[in-house]
Amino acid sequence: MAASPLGAPPSASSSPEWPSRGATAGSRARFAGITGTNGKSTTTALLAHILAVAARPVAAGGNLGPAALALPLLPDDGVYVLEMSSYMLERIAALRFDAAAMLNLSADHIDRHGDMTGYARAKRAIFARQSAADTAVLGIDDAPSRQMAEALRGGPARLVTISGAAAAEVSPQGTLLRDAAGTIVDLAGARALPGSHNAQNAAAAAAMALALGVPRADIAAGIVSYPGLAHRQELVARVGGVAFINDSKATNADSTARALGCHDRVVWIAGGQAKAGGIESLSAFFPRVALALLIGRDSSILAATLAAHGVPYREVGTLEAAVAQGWEAARGGTAPVVLLSPACASWDQFSSFEHRGDRFRALAQAIAEAP
Ligand code: ADP
Repeated sequence: MAASPLGAPPSASSSPEWPSRGATAGSRARFAGITGTNGKSTTTALLAHILAVAARPVAAGGNLGPAALALPLLPDDGVYVLEMSSYMLERIAALRFDAAAMLNLSADHIDRHGDMTGYARAKRAIFARQSAADTAVLGIDDAPSRQMAEALRGGPARLVTISGAAAAEVSPQGTLLRDAAGTIVDLAGARALPGSHNAQNAAAAAAMALALGVPRADIAAGIVSYPGLAHRQELVARVGGVAFINDSKATNADSTARALGCHDRVVWIAGGQAKAGGIESLSAFFPRVALALLIGRDSSILAATLAAHGVPYREVGTLEAAVAQGWEAARGGTAPVVLLSPACASWDQFSSFEHRGDRFRALAQAIAEAP
C-alpha cells in the first residue's frame, strides 16, 4: 500500500487502497478538507453535492459518513471531500489538501486540547504542507479564526477569506453570495441552508468549489438544490401551522444559537448532558423562547439559567413528554415552531445525537399522522 495520507490505517486488510497522489499507478484525484468547530458536516455534504451537480466524480467521508480509508478509488478528475476533526488533524502525517477550509473556532472541545491555543493549532494543521498551487479558505467571523487568517496571509497557499455576515472575499451581501467576480447565488433560494451560519458554510463550499475549477453556474445550482442533512435544523413534520424542527446535532450552545436565531418565537426543547458554560451564552435569544421544555440529566442546570432570565420553562424529563407538551402549547398558539436543539450531549438518555433526533422525528411524525 502506498504511503497512507492519514497515517497508519486502522485495518489495511479490508480497506481498498488509498490513492497515492502522483504515483504512476494511483489516481491524481484532488483532496478537499474541511474543519472548524461547527458546520463541518454541512459544508462537506454541500461541497460534495456541488461537485456531483458539476458531474465531477466525488467521494465524501472522514468524520461524516464512511471512514476516509473506505472511500473508493476516484479517477483523475475526482475529488475527495473530507471532514476533518481536530482529533484526526493531530494524527495526519502526510496529507496535503488542494483546497482546505477552517470555518470557525469556538471553545467547544478545549477539554481535550487543554486551551484555545492548542485547539487552534490542531485546526490549523489542515493547511499544513500546502503550496502556492493550493487554496486556504478561512472563516473570519470569530477572533481566533481572524488571527489564523492573518497568520496565513503570507502564504504559501492562496488565502480566500469567507464570512456568513461580514465583508470577505466570498460573503453574502443581503441574500446574494458574492465574490470579486460578482454574484454566485441568491441564498434566498437555498431552503436547506437557513441563517448566517449556513451562509458561512455556503461561502466556504463555494470558495472551495471555485478553487477546484467548478463552473459558477454549477455552484449556484448545487447550493440551491442542496437537500440538507438529517438532525441539522431538519424540518421533520408540519402539523397545521406548527413546524417540528430536529436540530439534535446541536450539542453545544454555539450550535443552538444558530437554530434559535432562525426563528422569532419557539417552543424550545433542550437538555441532556450539559457542556461547560451551560446556556448562559444564549441569553440574547431568550426573548424568542415562548416556552422551554427541559429534558435529561442536567435539566436543573439549564432551568437555573432560564429562571434567572425570566424565561418560562418546565422540567419534563423525557423527550416523549417534551414533544407532547410542546405540541399542546404550539397548537394553542404559543409559537409556530417546536424546536429540538438541545445544547447538550445526548448520552444520558440516548446512544447518540442521531438516536435522539430519530426519536424526535418519530414522535413528531406520529402527531402528524394521528387522525
Ligand atoms: P459539525 O459537523 O461541525 O458538527 P454540522 O454541519 O453537523 O457541524 O452542524 C451542527 C450544528 O452546528 C447545526 O445544527 C447548526 O446549528 C450549527 N452550525 C452549522 N454550521 C455552522 C457554522 N458555520 N457556524 C456555527 N454553527 C453552525
